[in-house]
Amino acid sequence: MNISSSTELITLGTAAGPAIRGKENGMASAVVVDGKHYLVDFGLGCVRAAHQAGLRGQDLVAGFITHLHSDHVGELPAYLMWNWGAPVDGFTTPVGLYGPGKDPNHVRGQQLAGTRELVDHTLKAFSYDLDIRVTDEARPVMNTLLDVQEITLPAAAEGSGNRPFIIYEDDRVTVRAVLVEHPPVFPAFAFRFDTAHGSMTFSGDTAECDALIELARGSDILVHEAVNLEFFTAMGFSPTFINHQRESHTPPEGAGRVAQAAGVKHLVLSHLAGVATPEEWKQRAETSFAGQVTVASSGQRFALNTLAADVVG
Ligand SMILES: [Zn+2]
Repeated sequence: MNISSSTELITLGTAAGPAIRGKENGMASAVVVDGKHYLVDFGLGCVRAAHQAGLRGQDLVAGFITHLHSDHVGELPAYLMWNWGAPVDGFTTPVGLYGPGKDPNHVRGQQLAGTRELVDHTLKAFSYDLDIRVTDEARPVMNTLLDVQEITLPAAAEGSGNRPFIIYEDDRVTVRAVLVEHPPVFPAFAFRFDTAHGSMTFSGDTAECDALIELARGSDILVHEAVNLEFFTAMGFSPTFINHQRESHTPPEGAGRVAQAAGVKHLVLSHLAGVATPEEWKQRAETSFAGQVTVASSGQRFALNTLAADVVG
């Protein structure tokens, strides 16, 4: 490990959606390893947040999409446009995009877009701009720079077993996934990044989930979603809406239980659905987790190059 070697988590956005209930950006995170970075989800505000964090497309290795709810992929098209080619320090060599395929459980699933069609349709929708900038500004052809990989479900993930499986590997990171429980959305993934400096796990959107405990086991950082059901009840949201929140998301006490069972060092609550104060989120998670809890806000940095995952900004 050289002196500048490091791994860092940057919380680009921490809000659930698609709804704006505060100042936080929508869900997006960056894993920065030795100056190269990997993005997890592309929620509202991630383009500007990534730029403000000093991240440029030229250093992006790959993006990982947990699931196809719009609050996780809404700014993917803009991210691609704003990080493309030398004039904006954007990518000029291929980048990977890993995400769910079509939903095999949905009655019209084959007619609905998976990650590949999401990207293909984006390229088609912006074809005028994409073509003009190739000839007018000497940008590379976008279509040749996106290596879209729909995540293949291994046999073990389809039955009762749901063991972590490797979806990506290079000399800096190994990325593993499990299926999580975010009905009716399928597939929905959690991701774990292992690096020379430690590991971090991202829950994606999920109810309290045993597979996630397996994936997160021993992680330095677990970025876990949380929902405040009491907020939605108090605000008079419909029973249907509240039931969706209950069945497909996790209360902060549940995030704490997962973190405790997985033996993680540091629980970072993110994708915060419903309004509560940071103290309220934290106290509720601490009722079931003995380790460090941070209630994330957009633009925070967590370093893994020390033994404890300290907040550095
Ligand atoms: Zn979702």
